[in-house]
Order: sequence, then structure tokens, then C-alpha cells
Amino acid sequence: MKYFDKDAVINALQDEVDMLRTILSMMPGHLYWRNKEGYYLGCNTNIANIINYESPDELIGKRPVDFMSVELATQVDRVDFEVMASEKEQSIEEQGYSQDNTPAIYLTRKSPFYDREGRVQGVLGISFDITERKVIEEKLKIAKEKAETANRAKSQFLAMISHELRTPLTSIIGFANFIRQGNIDPEKKEEYITHILNSGSYLLSLINSLLDYNKLENNKFELIDFPVHFKTLAEDVITMLSASAELKQLALVLDFDAKIPDWLLTDEKIFLQILINLIGNAIKFTETGNITLRMICVTLKKKTATLQIAVEDTGIGIPEEEQQAIFRRFYQLENIYTRNESLTGTGLGLAIVKKLVHLLGGKMQVTSEVNKGSKFYFNVTVPITTAPMTDTDVVRKPMKRIAVNPKVLLIEDDALIQIIHKQMLEELDCKVDVTDSANKALQMVSDKYDILFVDIGLPDITGFELIKRIRQLNKKMEQIPIVVLTGYSDENEYQRCMQAGANQVAIKPVSIETLREIISSA
Ligand code: ADP
Repeated sequence: MKYFDKDAVINALQDEVDMLRTILSMMPGHLYWRNKEGYYLGCNTNIANIINYESPDELIGKRPVDFMSVELATQVDRVDFEVMASEKEQSIEEQGYSQDNTPAIYLTRKSPFYDREGRVQGVLGISFDITERKVIEEKLKIAKEKAETANRAKSQFLAMISHELRTPLTSIIGFANFIRQGNIDPEKKEEYITHILNSGSYLLSLINSLLDYNKLENNKFELIDFPVHFKTLAEDVITMLSASAELKQLALVLDFDAKIPDWLLTDEKIFLQILINLIGNAIKFTETGNITLRMICVTLKKKTATLQIAVEDTGIGIPEEEQQAIFRRFYQLENIYTRNESLTGTGLGLAIVKKLVHLLGGKMQVTSEVNKGSKFYFNVTVPITTAPMTDTDVVRKPMKRIAVNPKVLLIEDDALIQIIHKQMLEELDCKVDVTDSANKALQMVSDKYDILFVDIGLPDITGFELIKRIRQLNKKMEQIPIVVLTGYSDENEYQRCMQAGANQVAIKPVSIETLREIISSA
């Protein structure tokens, strides 16, 4: 028979229990265990800290309701008793509080524990605070949704653009093919050529609108304020658009408030773009009656004037439920007039106008009644100025006068554009030499030419560099008129051309009228 030292065994057991207690109390997360009746048998230090108990022992014999809200305690009890009854572990996310009493989310794993006979004795729970993780998850979810929405919008936008581009291109290629096939009667041929030209100008306006829209989206559109004689601006717009109003026998009227100061400091180009767009639409969507450009001085202060600018028509009107949607890009109402002539608009006009008005500090608004008419209007506050400033566009160089039948050097690498520009210049009685590279041009330029037309994207050196080098050649070449014909319509490109030494910049495609103006003004 073996001899047992009873005290030694008890001491060893006590040491063991103490060690286990220490380990349990130091366990990370929140650890607790409860008996079958739901009374706590123990917990770790973290839990004691959270409920402000001196030691984990203070929790023994208590139930959740003794230190939690009834609502929270009921929730904890429900799951704990479920785990004991089902003898199945559960992992759940629970609401609770963190150390500093702020609401927290816990991930808790609850398991039943058993006595030696395998009977359920209680429930053991261990929780971890996952509040921070949840916040990050939520942020990621929102960011993902935003990215997905932006992506969808981008795809929709691209789909729309490719549709908008393909439609006119299809008709250009289609009708050009018909013409090439020959044996069509002259009247039909005339009609096909008109379709081609219409589709071409539609494409051009679409591209210009897209570039404007893109610039506005990326906040690259800058206001360039100058003194503007406001009445002249209004009258100019009316003159510009009166021909298209007359074609539809519509009266285009200006109602100009005499209280509006003569000179205002603002961006004339942006005002013009807004007004041309709004009046253009008014003409397009009105069949009888009149269109009024109304400019009212709402308030007049010492230094500023607040104006209301309104374009009113007696046209087809816009149903109330569509009055906000029309400002979305590519949005067009399914109405008889627009759909009959499919190439009348890009659906970008009002989206651009809205952004331009915002840029001026105003808010574009509309009131409209179907079959009665529409009023598009906005208020803007503009500084009053007394005298016009002098032209501060220091980079612009005045051109010297050009001879009759001017001799022109056209520097252009694209074979088709060479043909078109040469032909147009010859129609304007110019004598034209053509070269397709900057280096050849440098060899050719001399005072026998009256004017140089330069493309920017040349194969050897850029047009900017070419202009600089021409200017450095000799005294005569410092003065020779240089006009850039470029496909870039960026303000930066314009500045670069002027800084390189150009006299003028014209954006391709250039019309014969533009060339005529350039030559006669030069
Ligand atoms: P669009 O290039 O088609 O004219 P906009 O963005 O300028 O594009 O206009 C969007 C749509 O709003 C038009 O297609 C038309 O359905 C409607 N709309 C714009 N102006 C008027 C107006 N004055 N009267 C009636 N409908 C208009």
C-alpha cells in the first residue's frame, strides 16, 4: 500500500487551481462562465474592469441583469440558455460597451461545458471587441459601393458616347459609300452630301461639348473676367440667333432692364455660351410664338449688381417630373420634335449650362408647363466696373498686313488635311506651298512667304519648337505672321502657341470663312 502525503497533495492541487485562475484572469478578450441557472461562476480581469469591479470574484453569483440593461441582459441570457439547451456552440456578434462606456460590438463564441458524467454544467463565453474592425468593414463597404457606382456610371457614359459617335459616323460612311457607287440622281446626291455635312457638324459639336463637359467635371474651366458692356452682349446674342428664329418665324425679343449698369466685370465667353445654349434650345423646342431674353436688375449695390437672366419661350414645355432630369448629361425627352430630327442635339447642353451657371455663382432653374412654354433662369451677382481695362493679353502679337494673293507655306503632315487646307487657301486666292515636316519647313521659310500655317503635332519636332526656331532665324522671320491650325482646344495649348511666338490659333476643323478672316485680318 502506497503512502500519500495528504497535505502535499492538497497544496499541489491548490497551486494548480491558483495557476489556472491566474491564467484565466489574464486571458485576452472577455471570458466568463455561468452555471445552468445562469449565475456567473467566474470571469477574467477584462470583464471585471469593464463593469468596474475590483476583482473577477465580485461577479460570482451575479446574473447579467445585475450589471447590464434589461434589454442587453435578455439578449445575453437568451443565447446562453439556448447554447446550454441545444449543447451546440454559437458564434455571434453582440452589442455591448467598451471600457470607456462607449457602445461596442463583440464577436462572442459560446460553448456548453460538462461535468465528468458528460452532463451540461453551464456555458463558457469568450468575446473580442471588433468595433474597430466593423468600422473599417463598413467604410470599405461604402467605398466599394461608391467605386461600383462610379464604375457603372463610367460604363454607361462610355456606352452612350460610343452610341452617339457611331450613329453619325455610320451615316457619314454609309452616305459616302452611296455616292461613290455612282449612278444616283443629282438630287439624291445633294441630299446625301447634306446628311454627311450634318453628321460631321453634329460630331464636331458633340466632341466640343464632351471636351467642355470634361473640363468642367475636372474643374479645369477658369473664369476670365473682363469689363463687359452687358447690353451689347445681350444684343449680340440676339443678332447671332435671330436668323435661326426667323427660319421658324419666331420673334426673338430682348427685354433689358435699364437699371443694369453699363459695365460689369465678368466672363463674357461663358455668358455667351450659356445664353446661346438656352436660346438655341428655346428656338428648337418652340413652334409658334416668341422667345424672350429677359435681363432684370434684382438688386443694385454700390459695387455689385444682382441680375436675373431668363430665357422664356412659348414652346412645347417640359413635364414637371422631367424638369430636373433634363440637366443630366445625355438626357433628352422623348418628344416629337427632337426625335423627328435625330441629329439636333447632344443632350449635353443643359448639363454644361448648369455647370457654367454654377461657375458664375448662380443656380440654374426652370419652370415650365407642357404646351405653354418654359422659362430657364438664374441669378448672378457681378461686380460693377466703370471703365474698360486695356487689353492685357500681352502674348497676342499684332499681325502685319498681308499682300493681295498672299504666298502661304502650309506645314502639315496629314495628307488629307493638306489637301483640304490647300484647296481652301487656293479658293481664297493664296499661292500655297506645302511641307509635311518641321525640318523641311525650316529650310523653306523665307521672306518670300506672307504667312505661315503651322500644325502642332508634326513628326520631327513639335509645332511649338518649330515656331520658336523660325522666330530665331532672322529679323524678317521675327515678324512673319504665323497661324497655328491645331486639333487641340485646350487653354494651355493656346497659351503655349502664343508663348512660342504664334500670332493666332485656329482650332481644326477650320472653315473657309475662318481662313478668310485670318487672311484678311492679317
Ligand atoms: P439637347 O442637345 O438635346 O438640346 P440639352 O441638354 O440642351 O440637350 O437638353 C436636354 C433636353 O431637355 C432636350 O433634349 C429637350 O428634351 C429638353 N429641353 C431643353 N430645353 C427645352 C425647352 N426650352 N423646351 C422644351 N424642352 C426643352
